[in-house]
Amino acid sequence: MQDKIIQKAKELLSGGAVQVVIGYGQGTGDRVRAIFIQKPEDAGRLIMDGRCVQNLAGYLMKHEVRALGRAAIVARMPVLRSIAQLMYEEQFKDSDVAVIGISDANELVDLPDLNALKEYVRANPLKLTPEEQAEVDRLDAMTREERWAFWMEETSKCIKCYACRASCPMCYCARCTVEVNQPQWISVPSHDLGNLEWHIMRAMHLAGRCVNCGECTRACPVGIPLRLLNQRIIADIADNFGEEEDYALAAFKPDDKEDFIR
Ligand code: SF4
Ligand code: SF4
Repeated sequence: MQDKIIQKAKELLSGGAVQVVIGYGQGTGDRVRAIFIQKPEDAGRLIMDGRCVQNLAGYLMKHEVRALGRAAIVARMPVLRSIAQLMYEEQFKDSDVAVIGISDANELVDLPDLNALKEYVRANPLKLTPEEQAEVDRLDAMTREERWAFWMEETSKCIKCYACRASCPMCYCARCTVEVNQPQWISVPSHDLGNLEWHIMRAMHLAGRCVNCGECTRACPVGIPLRLLNQRIIADIADNFGEEEDYALAAFKPDDKEDFIR
């Protein structure tokens, strides 16, 4: 797989189809990190193995990366889902990005353009794994008081470093609500109320948009299971809207089961 990715990256760069390839390379120690390859002769630095799980899609939204020119990105399923979601949100045009797609079966996927990517994502809808669903069910089985205590305990650990936000491809607003101080919607200090406000606000802003990549949970230095909040919402959306909608919470349908839409 790694050799195929390197070959594809070389072709894209040497043919001038893209000016940069975003992928995984050797970091410090045993870690991998995002790398930005701009010359075909550097493509050999790209790595693909079990450590390459970081969702790289967030880099596509950075103006420093956009300034490098048209990008190709090494994209496992969470990255493909992120790009599809960002397209629904009008953040990309078809010509903006090329993908070196990798299926869940670890095969290179031929996705000649972003519309093909959208079709591929549509054919592979987001589903919680049995383990993830079991964790959601475990929380559902709690009483409201127990669930409240669980989340208060978890969110009380938050140090408001915002690494979760920085790592999430869906958190791309130029100015986040937490930075607005006139009026100040979200309390700045890291105390129980301020933390709760921050996490509820973030979960609501990600409702129907989270691609379940787990990057926020991996980034959190204090180990809060942030993804679990969004998994609950993913399960609710699947229950209420099925899997046919690309972006259920942005779809307008006069036959919506809620009256408010009429
Ligand atoms: S799992 Fe976390 S990082 Fe990934 S899209 Fe959802 S909220 Fe963002
Ligand atoms: S990464 Fe963790 S500690 Fe930092 S703001 Fe997010 S939840 Fe809080």
